[in-house]
Amino acid sequence: MPGGVSSPVRAFKSVGGQPIVFDKVKGAYIWDVDGNQYIDYVGTWGPAICGHAHPDVIAALHDALEKGTSFGAPSELENVLAQKVIDAVPSIEMVRFVNSGTEACMGVLRLMRAFTGRDKIIKFEGCYHGHADMFLVKAGSGVATLGLPDSPGVPKSTTQDTLTAPYNDIEAVKALFKDNPKTIAGVILEPVVGNSGFIPPDANFLKGLRDITKEDGALLVFDEVMTGFRIAYGGAQEKFGVTPDLTTLGKVIGGGLPVGAYGGRQDIMSMVAPAGPMYQAGTLSGNPLAMTAGIETLKLLEKPGTYEQLNKITQKLTDGLLEVAKETGHAVTTGQISAMFGMFFTDKPVHNYEDAKKSDLTKFQGFHRGMLERGVYLAPSQFEAGFTSLAHTDEDIERTLTAAKEVMSSL
Ligand SMILES: *Cc1c(COP(=O)(O)O)cnc(C)c1O
Repeated sequence: MPGGVSSPVRAFKSVGGQPIVFDKVKGAYIWDVDGNQYIDYVGTWGPAICGHAHPDVIAALHDALEKGTSFGAPSELENVLAQKVIDAVPSIEMVRFVNSGTEACMGVLRLMRAFTGRDKIIKFEGCYHGHADMFLVKAGSGVATLGLPDSPGVPKSTTQDTLTAPYNDIEAVKALFKDNPKTIAGVILEPVVGNSGFIPPDANFLKGLRDITKEDGALLVFDEVMTGFRIAYGGAQEKFGVTPDLTTLGKVIGGGLPVGAYGGRQDIMSMVAPAGPMYQAGTLSGNPLAMTAGIETLKLLEKPGTYEQLNKITQKLTDGLLEVAKETGHAVTTGQISAMFGMFFTDKPVHNYEDAKKSDLTKFQGFHRGMLERGVYLAPSQFEAGFTSLAHTDEDIERTLTAAKEVMSSL
């Protein structure tokens, strides 16, 4: 396997050393093949918001397994999950299930173009929308310049319509619309960034994008693959009160099985085949196992007090990290909303990818290694958000902070 992993983020390239090979997960913990236990802040990159291998999810999966793993035809479970998603997410009136966040973003991009009859899109530097060609545009490329392929194998022709702007820079977006009037299909973004570290939107950024897109007749798309059901039950759009036209989901709605979804306004979604002419399909889409894990996960999340609990435990962690850093003389910036958090080794606020890149990556390497040696598993990159779950306890946070103090004292 290239690099020894099935997905590049799992490698330890940016922090040094080799990736750990794991054997099992449960609650807030993860065990490696040598039997070492770690407190886990990766949560399989987002889905494990109720804690790994939650008994309700596992029991329901056992039952579903007995009934077969794939029908290749409609199942009632799809309707149940669809209804839950529609009830929860303000923008979603109709939804299509797929098998990954990447697929959801590919589908939504085709839909943006099909509905508007326009080809150009705007994405933001440092935002990740899966690995499809059109989204692999070099972060940091000049604002009004056309994107260049980020990866060999991506033809220029597939990214020539992908325009980029720095995150939180509403003026840059205005300039792109001014230079490309009525030719931009839409704007896609992570409403809270997790893929260049944790970066929240500035006040009025999301609202500004809503106004600009509406005025031009372009669509606004929130990629909530990470933030959906994590920032709030209704996602970042509920939290910030800004309703996009379309939304992509993944991670949490699959409860640890492969799932993605895109949805939004009914008039737009009605373009998707077979209701409309825009083609998109999938052999295993909406399969009963993935639907079951998603339904059970949302059932746990919809209980009252869930997000208050997640927020409280996560805030305890980030407040504690800030405190430890102060005591040990390190400049850090932390941030957190609900069950998503981040920490950069920098004394300046981080508003976008350029700011994030200015943080002390060498220091992060040392921090990551030290935490790992003390049984705390953090994402092996400064440019990834951290995740907590309903299974993380006060004691887990305290143990984490004790480890952090030891590590930071030695950095
Ligand atoms: C993880 C992620 C994706 C891609 O999802 P996969 O299931 O890994 O294909 C897309 N967008 C965002 C915001 C993500 O965090």
